[in-house]
Amino acid sequence: MENLHADLLVIGFGKGGKSLAAALGARGQRVVMVEESDQMYGGTCINIGCVPTKSLIHLASTRPQDADPRAWYAASVASTAALTTAMRGKNFQMLDTIDSVTVVTGTAAFLDDKRVEVTAGEDRLEITADTIVVNTGAQTLVPDIPGLRASAHLVTGTELIASPDLPRRLAVIGGGYQGIEFAALVARYGAEVTVLETAARILPREDEDVARAAEEILREEGVTILTGVRVTEVRDADGAAVVHYDADGAAGSVTANSATAGSVIADAVLAAAGRAPRTAGLRLEAAGVTTTARGAIEVDERLRTSRPHIFAIGDVNGGPQFTYISLDDYRIVADQLIGDGKRSTADRVAVPSTLFMTPPLARVGLTEDQARAAGHTIRVASRPVASLAAMPRARILGDVRGLMKFVVDAETDEILGAALLSVDAQELINTVALAMRAGVTASELRDSIWTHPSSTEAFNEVLGSLR
Ligand SMILES: Cc1cc2nc3c(=O)[nH]c(=O)nc-3n(C[C@H](O)[C@H](O)[C@H](O)COP(=O)(O)OP(=O)(O)OC[C@H]3O[C@@H](n4cnc5c(N)ncnc54)[C@H](O)[C@@H]3O)c2cc1C
Repeated sequence: MENLHADLLVIGFGKGGKSLAAALGARGQRVVMVEESDQMYGGTCINIGCVPTKSLIHLASTRPQDADPRAWYAASVASTAALTTAMRGKNFQMLDTIDSVTVVTGTAAFLDDKRVEVTAGEDRLEITADTIVVNTGAQTLVPDIPGLRASAHLVTGTELIASPDLPRRLAVIGGGYQGIEFAALVARYGAEVTVLETAARILPREDEDVARAAEEILREEGVTILTGVRVTEVRDADGAAVVHYDADGAAGSVTANSATAGSVIADAVLAAAGRAPRTAGLRLEAAGVTTTARGAIEVDERLRTSRPHIFAIGDVNGGPQFTYISLDDYRIVADQLIGDGKRSTADRVAVPSTLFMTPPLARVGLTEDQARAAGHTIRVASRPVASLAAMPRARILGDVRGLMKFVVDAETDEILGAALLSVDAQELINTVALAMRAGVTASELRDSIWTHPSSTEAFNEVLGSLR
């Protein structure tokens, strides 16, 4: 077995890990980056996550009217693959061109708290390191539904968007953020999509009016939504999957593609019940690294594990599953290794997020329900985009669907949260988040000068209707 020693060993080529490897490598530290797959340099986001999904969503809207949607989908998958291949190459280059950084392709597992074994086929390499950062991400959870795991029609999101064959009928198990994003994406290419959600509505963490507005848009796009249903079994028959469910009385309408009430026939069944931290096979116990009850690597506010020289960053530490959180995790660890060590996860205020349906749903801070539950006396502004006279941008783009909602503390005028379901919401939300972090009040945001025609100018009018 060959041996290598590093100042820093990073396991997993995710956003945080690669940023750290590049930063320390640029300072001349000996860094080893271990990545399991040469198809994953750059991590989940660019290869199988954010970038390919958003590329496919964008390309759906560029389809010429006379183009066959299925052929357009195959072409879109191919051009998306070209994009991710280029980005993967750039990511590899970014580290490989730094003299003191070595990229090793293989699967890492701990031997003890300073030694890691990397295997690739018959090859074995032992790496010792002073500091180790685990950045192994998350993996799709397939719920324990009878017949689902054995179904030939089960797909993960990764498999779904890698195949040029658009399923004619897709059943999505889970009406949360990822399920809805995939449902919206595939429906845009003309597939028949049915979402099955156990809760009484999709996006159960959103306020009811926001979730209902999103649901209305999805229905308009042809998505069938069944809420209050529990999938009981998936059975393959006649070249398709039959997804059986129990309805508890809150179910949506019987679907166009239902065999009978209580079942949906699908060519592909997407498991969209979440992604779990990826720790299997790492042999964390050999290093004395503990995990939480939910299977994430246990970390403190500075992302140190139970072994202080071992850090865990990104999805694997059980934090919010976003690329920019992995990036912020990098900042926290870098601050300890080469900075003044002050940053921590407790500094995070107003972390925004976006669900890229069309138009996108972006949110930050508290929902109305959460604000009330937290004991705030609140004022709320909620306006359908179509009612906004001062936002011609949506009309120019030809999409006035959605709503804009703000939740404001009635006593302090502090912005507590916002949900923006509208064109450009993925950009707008960052302005709101910055305002919240900087202590800009709702009145200040309302009375600011914004360019025209832009989506931001909607803030003048929406916040003018707080009550
Ligand atoms: C379909 C989808 C869409 C998404 N859309 C968005 C979005 O729009 N915006 C957003 O911010 N986030 C989005 N996310 C979430 C985002 O992609 C993740 O939060 C982020 O990529 C996590 O990065 P990470 O740093 O934790 O590690 P990852 O990027 O997941 O990297 C982990 C790496 O570790 C490697 N690895 C695992 N185990 C080992 C091992 N034992 N040895 C060696 N290597 C190993 C893996 O191969 C992988 O490359 C999306 C995710 C998915 C799945």
